[in-house]
This record gives sequence, C-alpha cells and structure tokens, in this order.
Amino acid sequence: MKMPRWLLWVAVLAIATVGSEGLNGYQIHALNVAIVFAILAVGLSLTQGIAGQTNLAQIALFGVGAYSTAVLTTLYHWNFWTTLPASIALTLLAGVVLGLPALRMQSHYLGIVTLGLAIAFSSFVSNAPLLGGAAGISNIPAPGVLGFAFDTDHRYFFLLLAALALGLLFAGFICGAELGLRLRAIRDDHVAAGATGVHVATSRVTAFALGALFAGLAGNLYAGLIGYVSPDTFSIFVMFELLAMVMIGGRQSIYGSAAGAILLSVVQSLLINFQNYAQLGYGVLQVAVVVAAPMGLAGLVIRAWRLARSSDRAEAVHVAPYAGRIPVGNEDAVRDGPIISVQRLSKRFGAVRALDDVSIAVAPGAIHGIVGPNGSGKTTLFNVLTGLYRPDGGAVEVLGADVARRRADQLARMGVSRTFQNVRLFRSLTVLENTLVALAHRDATHLWEYVVVPWRVVARDRESKRRALEILGDLGLASVIDRLPGELPYGVQRRLEIARALASRPRVLLLDEPAAGLNADEVRELANVIRDVRRSGISVVLIEHNMSLVMSLCDRVTVLNFGRLLIDSEPARVSQDPAVIEAYLGRRDRVRREPTSAASPSASIA
Ligand code: ADP
Ligand code: MG
Repeated sequence: MKMPRWLLWVAVLAIATVGSEGLNGYQIHALNVAIVFAILAVGLSLTQGIAGQTNLAQIALFGVGAYSTAVLTTLYHWNFWTTLPASIALTLLAGVVLGLPALRMQSHYLGIVTLGLAIAFSSFVSNAPLLGGAAGISNIPAPGVLGFAFDTDHRYFFLLLAALALGLLFAGFICGAELGLRLRAIRDDHVAAGATGVHVATSRVTAFALGALFAGLAGNLYAGLIGYVSPDTFSIFVMFELLAMVMIGGRQSIYGSAAGAILLSVVQSLLINFQNYAQLGYGVLQVAVVVAAPMGLAGLVIRAWRLARSSDRAEAVHVAPYAGRIPVGNEDAVRDGPIISVQRLSKRFGAVRALDDVSIAVAPGAIHGIVGPNGSGKTTLFNVLTGLYRPDGGAVEVLGADVARRRADQLARMGVSRTFQNVRLFRSLTVLENTLVALAHRDATHLWEYVVVPWRVVARDRESKRRALEILGDLGLASVIDRLPGELPYGVQRRLEIARALASRPRVLLLDEPAAGLNADEVRELANVIRDVRRSGISVVLIEHNMSLVMSLCDRVTVLNFGRLLIDSEPARVSQDPAVIEAYLGRRDRVRREPTSAASPSASIA
C-alpha cells in the first residue's frame, strides 16, 4: 500500500495545526525556535550531507540573514517583506564567498577554514558598533500581511510551518533533480564526476549557495520571531549544536536533518533546568550515533525499510547478456582529421618521466590499442587526454582543438569519455543515477531555473531519464537500474562504467584495462560491446593487457615502454617487432610486472 505524498503533507499540517493550539506560551515558542533550526539544518544537510562540502560556518550565514534583517528593519525602516529577499540575497553572497575555499581544499582542511570564518564572524558582530556589540539589536518588528500581524508565537508558528514546508519541498525537488545528482556525484568521487562532465567547482560553490539560501531564510524568520539579535545566538557553540542535530537526524537526508533539529531543540528546551547535563548528554548521544548509526536516524529508517523488502534484494543479480543492441551508424561522428592527436607529449612526476616525447594519432572510427608493461605511462596518457593532468610539454589536440589546458568536464562535453583502471562509480548512486550524471550536464541547469521555471527542469530530467534507460537497456542492464554499484558483480560494474561513459554521447571512448577482472564470457561480451561502439561511429582507445583481445579488435596499436613510444603500427607488425618481444618476453627482470588480472594468463602480457 502506498500513501500519496501530498496526503502525508496534509496530515502533518493538520496535526501541527490542532496540536499547536494546545501548547502553552513557552512550549510554542520553543517549537518555533526548533522550526527555525530545522530550516537551517536542511541547508546544512544540502551543503555537507548531500554535496559533501564541510561547512562549519552555517551559523555565521544564519547570522548574516538575521543581522541584515535587524539592520534593514530597525535602522532603515524597511518593511519585513522587502527585507526577506534582501537578506536572503546578502546571505547568498556570503555563502558564495564562503564556498570559494572549497575550490582549493576539501574535508578537514575546509572544516578548519570555515570554522575560522565562523569565529571571525562571531567576533565581528560582537564588536561592530553598527550591530550593537554584545547587546545586539532589538525592537525588530514582527511581520504582518494585510493587517494580520504575526505578533504572537501561536500566529508566527504558521508562518514558520509554511516556510519549513516550502523549504523541504524545494530541497526535495533539488535532491531528486539533476542538481542533486551532481552534488551527490561530487561527494562520492569528484574525479569521476569531472570526467563525467560535472563542473566540480561550480557544483561546490552551488552547494554553499544552497546552504546559504536556507540560512538566509532562517535568519530572517528568526529575527522576526525573537525581535532582537545578539552575538551569542551565532556563536561556534551553537554551530556545534546544529551539527549535532544534522548528524543525529541523518546528514544525507534533508528530512532526517529537519527532524533531528526539531527533536534536539525540543529536548533541549525540556531540559532547560539541567543545562550542564544537557551538554554532556548531547556529547554522549553524538558519539553513540556516530558509532552505531553513522547516517543518523534517517539512515536507520532507510536501513529498516531496505531490510523489510530484503527478500527481493537478496536474490542474485541477474543481468542480461549483451545482445548487440548499441545502435549503429552515426554519420556525423565521422570526420577527416584525427580524433586525437598527441605530439611530443611529456609528463613528469618528480624524477619519473611518465611520458617522454610521445606522439600518437587516433584515426576517426578506429579502435586504437595502447599496450605496454605496468608503469609505462598508459594511464597517464589517458589522464592528460581527459584533463586530469596538465602536460609538461608537447601538444594535445582533440577534434582539431588544442586541449592541453582544458578542464576534465570541458573535455567530457567535447566528446571525450573514459572508464578508469580501477572502476570509479558513484557508490551511493543507483545504476540509473550513475548513468544520469553523465546526462546531467548536457544543458547546464542553473540554480535560478529551479526557482523560476521548475517545469523546465522537470522536462529536461524526464528526457535524460528516457535516454539513460535506453542506454542501460542497450547494454543489458535494465534489470538492475535500482541497484547500488556495490551490490553488483565486478563485471557488471565495469559494464555500467561503459554505459555511463556512453551516456554523454562521446566522439571517442577511452577504456583503461576494461577486461581486467573479467571472466572469459565477460571478455567476449566486452569485445562485442567495443565493436558495436565503434560501429555506432565512436572511436575507441583501448588500454589492455589481454593481447588476444588487442590483436583481434584493434586497427592500430601503440606500444609504450618506460614512458617512451616503442612502436606504433598495425597489430600484426607490432606482435612481430623484436623490440616489443624484448620488452615483454625478453629478460624478465627488465620488465615491471603486476599480478595478472586478465582472463587468460597465456594471452596476457603482464
Ligand atoms: P601504466 O598505466 O602504464 O601502468 P601509469 O601511467 O599509471 O602507468 O604510470 C606511469 C608512471 O608514472 C609510473 O612510474 C607511476 O608511478 C607514475 N605516476 C603516475 N601517476 C602519478 C602521480 N599522480 N604521481 C606520481 N607518479 C605518478
Ligand atoms: Mg594504468
């Protein structure tokens, strides 16, 4: 039985309406403050839980929203409703500035920088004369509409409830849409996200902007609720309480975070006479949650729900064999010049010359093999071609354009797609969502579209979903679209990575040891997929140790050895070349090897 979502909303609002009438003045005030913190927590959950950007300055953004409201209404006598967009805009600006450090650093370093900014804000508001110093600003008017004033806690409650409901609806919309996917993708693996076409820098700043949007709203409503603002509300201590709310509620869930905020605020107001113990209790509870349920209460609920339908989950994953369904013939993909042209490329890591004076041209419509012992620079070549590394010298052209200084996502959008030597899927995204990330960036959706023309976002997402399902169907993955990558056998994960790479309609597909770890059947299917990809008009560059696969598929083979080009020719000539035989089969102590991972060791060269 499935209850429609709107019915749930109506029920919650009805219970809240009836319930609030029965609360006394102190209780309803405590509940109002709790709702303000719930809105603030939803913002933090978007920045930190969904997008993985450590933010210990959410409380300072809250302060920007509250103080700007206080100054504009009391000093400049603005109307509350004109203050609302103004203070949200100011907070957004502060959020974007706060997000800039995230372009240079992540995780605990980012935590320290944002913490520093939060402390700086706190000491600024304590000392700025305009902001009233330690005493703060009082006499902030309560808002009203058409003669109805939200001047009591019982009345203000409805304003807050409406704001929280709208906030949750909006946050839920974002999480379920293309933007939410992008944010979760950069949290899971920002390198893979970039290679899949996600503009990582913009997405990180957007994550902070979203947090700020909610902080601005919460700050504005807080000022109107309490009627005064003072520095201690925006101290670092309150920041850690907010963090506890989000952690306990479940940072990766906006609903969990909101619930955590309300729960902890209410408990705190009940324990107002036991302040010292309350702090200690908080600490213990937080440790317990981190140890027992890292994803908080929401995580527990989700796990319970999954267990409840575990009967179908426990079944072995069934994936259809590849049925040769990749559509053939993409005429406009064929061009005259080489798809990829690399000239005199070099890349050093300290003293290691990973690539040394390497020149390669990939012809349109070709399957081009790159082979060589481990450490010979094959993956480094891919990393340069996909914008992960900057070359130290030489020229790199893709489709005739100089790309030596382009970012990974720009190259992805130009039509260069890749897979990784060690599979890099987004681990907390389903099979369908993994594929959707590659389509998310096609026509960059801007944050304003989510507010102004949400239906456009919905229509685009629907089209992306249709396309993603088509590709997954082509590759025989239709039966596992709701699975997480971790639930799939290794060979299926590899196939999914190819599906994700194909989703962005590449001109050239770079495969880094795609047969590694596959069984003989899977290698045969892989060969069919690669052939069909080429027949669909996409050129393929294939790094592979499985020589029989390389020899049977490739039109041309380049051999690298210690970063230098050994030979570049047709497969038959390469296999006869004395230097190649020497590099692979010659004196074993001269060849660096890794444990063989290819299907049949006899056919493998490493
Ligand atoms: P292959 O893919 O052919 O096995 P790689 O391109 O991964 O080889 O590596 C070539 C050489 O460059 C190796 O010696 C490797 O240690 C070095 N290398 C690759 N990436 C880095 C890096 N990010 N930092 C330092 N050294 C690296
Ligand atoms: Mg490699």
